[in-house]
Amino acid sequence: MATKADFIWSHCNRCGHETKHNLIHKAASTRTFEEDDGHHSVDVGTVWEMLQCRGCDDVTMTRVQWTSEDDRQDGPVPPSYFPPRFARRMPEWFGWYKTPREYYDLLGEVYAALNADSRRLAMMGARAVIDVVIQKTVGDKGDFKKGLDALAAANHMSERDVDALATAIDVGHASAHRAHKPTLDDVNVVIDIIERLIHSEILATEAKVVKARTPQRPAKVSKEKP
Ligand SMILES: [Zn+2]
Repeated sequence: MATKADFIWSHCNRCGHETKHNLIHKAASTRTFEEDDGHHSVDVGTVWEMLQCRGCDDVTMTRVQWTSEDDRQDGPVPPSYFPPRFARRMPEWFGWYKTPREYYDLLGEVYAALNADSRRLAMMGARAVIDVVIQKTVGDKGDFKKGLDALAAANHMSERDVDALATAIDVGHASAHRAHKPTLDDVNVVIDIIERLIHSEILATEAKVVKARTPQRPAKVSKEKP
């Protein structure tokens, strides 16, 4: 967050990126604690700021806690946000289409984990989403590999898609069993993979509905040969 002129740059959850914010209100408190030696003291303070996005009017609050012992070379203390900043939002198409309930609920928990920076939980949740897709589409095959092979055999996805899903599943396995904490970039790739998986399933269903209500060209009547 950088202050410039009469506005503050800050991430806006509703806009989904950094925007200019007005500072609506600022409050601060400071307390001084005497050290046991009676010669030194430490100041501890909190600064609250209420910010409003200039783009969408959304309001957020930041809190910075500091002490006089903070090392200035470490740079400014990062603020806490209320409500927390979203690391990633659920795609808008989730609301446009009839997303199956089992996906909606599970993905809601995956995004909640992402926004709390609980990456391992998010990756375990992503693996669970793939499991639900397999169960729903081709039934229980005993393990993930057999499930993915069954999806490919039934033409639900290409070999390239299977490889991408196998990678996403492995990140989930490593997070659950090998204490692996994936990078944010890796997490975003896995979430992209499962979003695409579900998006393509929903679009296939929607396409059938569109086809059913689209008038078809009448079949050509073949002329009888004389
Ligand atoms: Zn905004």
